[in-house]
Amino acid sequence: MRLFYLILALNGPIYALDLHLPTGNEALLKGDGAGYFQFVDRNFEGQQTTPWEGGQFGFWRDPRRVGSGIAYARFHEGMDVKPLQRDAKGNPLDEVKAILAGEVVYVTPSGKSNYGSYLVIKHDWGEGPFYSLYAHLKEALVTAGTKVTLGQVVARMGYTGSGIDQRRAHLHV
Ligand SMILES: [Zn+2]
Repeated sequence: MRLFYLILALNGPIYALDLHLPTGNEALLKGDGAGYFQFVDRNFEGQQTTPWEGGQFGFWRDPRRVGSGIAYARFHEGMDVKPLQRDAKGNPLDEVKAILAGEVVYVTPSGKSNYGSYLVIKHDWGEGPFYSLYAHLKEALVTAGTKVTLGQVVARMGYTGSGIDQRRAHLHV
C-alpha cells in the first residue's frame, strides 16, 4: 500500500512524496492507532499500563504530574510499528520495506546498539539528502551500497536492542 502524496513542508518548499508504508501494517491509514503502534510498558503512580500511544512519534513517554495535569518528559524519535504476523514461538515475521527509493548507507555490523540491528537508507529529494532508519531488526537483507526501490523488502522485523522484548517486538522507523 502506498501513501500517495504525503505533503511535507521542509525549509519552505513543499514536496509531494510518494511514500510506502514500512511494513504490511496498514492500520495507520484507517486511523487505528491501537492496531498500528506497539504499546509501551508504563508504571505511573503505582499503575501498570500498556498504552499504545507510547509508540507514536513525539512526546508520549515518561509521564510526570504537573499541577493538575500530566506532561510527558521523553521524546520518541520515530514510530513503533507492531507486527501483524508471528510464528508459533511468538517471533515476528513481518517484512520491512523501504519507504522511498534510495541507497542503503549503513547496516549495523554488530547489532549491539540501543537500536539493536538497524539500517539507514538515503533518499535524494533534489535539495539535499533525507534519511530513513529501520531499527530493532531481526536481520537486514541488504548491505551498505545497495540501491533499493520504493517498497523493496530490506529486512525482517525483530526485537533486538535495549528496552524491547519479544512481547513488544516492533519496527522503529
Ligand atoms: Zn521506537
